[in-house]
Amino acid sequence: MPLFEYAPAPESRSIVDIKPSYGLFIGGEFVDPADGAAMKSVNPASEEVLAEVAEAGESDVDRAVAAARRAYETTWGPMPGRERAKYLYRIARIIQERSRELAVLESLDNGKPIRESRDVDVPLVAAHFFYYAGWADKLTHAGFGPDPRPVGVAGQVIPWNFPLLMLAWKIAPALACGNTVVLKPAETTPLTALVFAEICQQADLPPGVVNIVTGAGATGAAVVNHPDVDKVAFTGSTEVGRAIARAVAGTRKRVTLELGGKAANIVFDDAAIDQAVEGIVNGIFFNQGHVCCAGSRLLVQESVYDELLASLKRRMARLRVGDPLDKNTDIGAINSSAQLDRIRTLSEIGSQEGAEAWSPPCELPDRGFWFAPTIFTGVTQAHRIAREEIFGPVLSVLTFRTPEEAVAKANNTPYGLSAGVWTEKGSRILATADKLRAGVVWANTFNKFDPASPFGGYKESGYGREGGRHGLEAYLVH
Ligand code: NAD
Repeated sequence: MPLFEYAPAPESRSIVDIKPSYGLFIGGEFVDPADGAAMKSVNPASEEVLAEVAEAGESDVDRAVAAARRAYETTWGPMPGRERAKYLYRIARIIQERSRELAVLESLDNGKPIRESRDVDVPLVAAHFFYYAGWADKLTHAGFGPDPRPVGVAGQVIPWNFPLLMLAWKIAPALACGNTVVLKPAETTPLTALVFAEICQQADLPPGVVNIVTGAGATGAAVVNHPDVDKVAFTGSTEVGRAIARAVAGTRKRVTLELGGKAANIVFDDAAIDQAVEGIVNGIFFNQGHVCCAGSRLLVQESVYDELLASLKRRMARLRVGDPLDKNTDIGAINSSAQLDRIRTLSEIGSQEGAEAWSPPCELPDRGFWFAPTIFTGVTQAHRIAREEIFGPVLSVLTFRTPEEAVAKANNTPYGLSAGVWTEKGSRILATADKLRAGVVWANTFNKFDPASPFGGYKESGYGREGGRHGLEAYLVH
């Protein structure tokens, strides 16, 4: 059969009106930072500067926390849950109305394919607000005592891999429980959070309930260390998570941490191979592998190794890498040059340590930050690429002979965020999942998210749960 080439199918960016510069969102309005500091947000697919964004200093964070405290004490904290719910439903509906704009902006600022931001990220963002809106007037029935109260002001710091979705995971449960928030987006992806600030204005959310302070690590540290913050919620690297745990130790602040992962995706010899290959591809190449729960360690039962590997390579040769706004694109740009350097360095170490790299032939664009989808075979548990989070489109392939060996290898990691099991046997799914030390175990699927389902880690992947009824607990005193 002849191979047909895809015609380009770019999504138009005209729906997005990116302003040349953005201030901080404090007390319901956009304001300039005290010292006028600014940084640039860049499109990683073209290196084009998209906008200039304010960089908040300590005094700006102080203003934001004061606005959040005022709103907590005067309006949002005392407001009945059924009234708070109306605002959250309104926000959810506006997100749906502006979904195309948000998806295009997310792809421009982050580099992820439009197919993903349009079909996964933004629908899940709206779903989170709908889901937690539903809880706002039912907190007394959530299993946290007869009269659960909000914690107060939440300081929230999020990463760049799912900018708007991580914002939703943080803000929706906090607001549903009656807390107010100061949120710091990642320095490379601040733009959708700033459009979210506009959405808060559009929804007539009382001033100060949501405050967005843009900036880099120092701004994040100012949020975390502010004495009037009652609760800290962080998603990002284990290294920064450790620093935050140290910073809040001995204070009255509550903290939840969602950190890195090195998930095992285990394929048993009775698995449906084609289905497993789709799951493996989704597990590691979804969002360029910039996923804390990515299935970055493939564990294959030896008897199906050759068949599975051949099938995986055939599938990878069909992946389309390129323009994130093209609706045919499977793999977009790496989010930043710093992240690209990290991926390159760890991949080179993989080769130096004796593993064998393979990538399908693919043309990468001249400008921007790109990395071809890659698998490493001949990987042992001692290799750094089997132990460290690469956070890119790089899969380490290992093998096993018995179910016991699979579990032992899967658990041989300092992390414990997620895992996958592929087998025909229900009993084997249950027996394996029971022994895996991972917060989420997917069976015959991977990277499935739902606002009703709790998510979080074991060991160095952090503590606390986000999502579902469990996600309310961190934002309630009971
Ligand atoms: P990071 O942990 O440095 O940054 C995450 C967020 O924390 C950003 O908003 C950042 O500005 C902020 N931050 C940085 N230093 C801080 C400090 N001292 N106090 C408070 N906030 C601070 O992550 P990164 O540099 O973007 O990525 C580094 C590695 O982290 C990646 O290679 C990957 O392994 C991992 N990572 C994990 C996740 C995840 O979802 N678990 C997300 C992004 C990155």
